[in-house]
Amino acid sequence: MKKLYKASLLLPLNAPAIKNGAMLVENNTILEVGEYHTFNKKNIRHIIEFPHSVITPSFINAHTHLELSWMKGKIPAGKSFAGWVEKMIQYQNKTPADNEVRQYAVEQMELMRSAGVILAADITNGQLIKKLEAKRGVKRIVQLEKLGFNSEKAESILEAAIQQKEKCNHEALVVPHAPYSTSPQLIQKIKNYNSKISIHIAESKDEKEFMSAGGGKFRDILESVGSWDEKWTVPRMGSIEYLHHLGVLDSDTILVHAVHINPTEIDFIKSANSSVCLCPLSNHYLNVGTAPAYELWKAGVLLCMGTDSLASNAKLDMNEEMKYLYLENEKRIPADEILKMATLNGAKALGCESSFGSLTAGKQASFNVFGGYGLTDDPAEFVVRKKWSKIDCY
Ligand SMILES: [Zn+2]
Repeated sequence: MKKLYKASLLLPLNAPAIKNGAMLVENNTILEVGEYHTFNKKNIRHIIEFPHSVITPSFINAHTHLELSWMKGKIPAGKSFAGWVEKMIQYQNKTPADNEVRQYAVEQMELMRSAGVILAADITNGQLIKKLEAKRGVKRIVQLEKLGFNSEKAESILEAAIQQKEKCNHEALVVPHAPYSTSPQLIQKIKNYNSKISIHIAESKDEKEFMSAGGGKFRDILESVGSWDEKWTVPRMGSIEYLHHLGVLDSDTILVHAVHINPTEIDFIKSANSSVCLCPLSNHYLNVGTAPAYELWKAGVLLCMGTDSLASNAKLDMNEEMKYLYLENEKRIPADEILKMATLNGAKALGCESSFGSLTAGKQASFNVFGGYGLTDDPAEFVVRKKWSKIDCY
């Protein structure tokens, strides 16, 4: 059955905004997008009108950990990053049983869907590797995260990960955690196994100290948990440059956080066509500093956006992330570019652009309708700043 959705403004995002726009949908697929008056309404029985509204593609959360949803509010904001990591290690023994972890995750997945998200790159350490059943949830791209600093164990860790995914979920990707927790050998082996990876990178000053001098709190943590590797060579460079030297920077690599990076490293990211996933509210929560979003955007780096987890964020709300990033950068990055980070760019970075990210014929009909639009507002800013009075998610 064909349905025509009509709104004051349609933001396809890969094409200019359409005033009095409409979108023809059949079997959950977009057939056509254009000005309302150009559609032949003869064979269309269902016309759904949204007055004073803006339609955008659904959001894409390019980095989250639904598995940690049970940790909401457990670690207070504003501590040091290494202090936060220590707390996370302490909480490992307190992880609830699988069914409880799943319940918390499903609840958050449903909340995320009702806040406009259709797709999420979701990190698991194993508990949530299988499908999550929800009444109305998001589509998950499952990323099975592995770490281990002892270089001699790299091969066996990857083999165990492959067995785990073959047993539980063939579609899961294996991804490395971070350079301070994962040996260079393991990072390279994972990248060689499946090219599409994401990695937590340059998130804190502690990481910077560890990479440049080999000491600091991360060294202490690795020693205290018995994971320090005497054979490890201090890179004496920034984390991005380090990944460049490991040969793992390319268009399939998503760099999550990228807070403590320098202009040369921005050049490395751009020349490799890697994407960066900004997590502004998680960075704020952990008090680690601010990613150079404006500089990355000016350099033409593909920027997407994620909430990270409820262990380092109060909510998994993409619209809050956009609003914060927009205001944090004092509106230097235009609102429509920020909206793209939460939609189209996420689809590009995750390799799902053929189905998601824009209102384009042939793509899945996943979209958000934002009500309460005054006709003089900039439509992207109206969405990004959460000026809307209601959201309907399709
Ligand atoms: Zn994360």
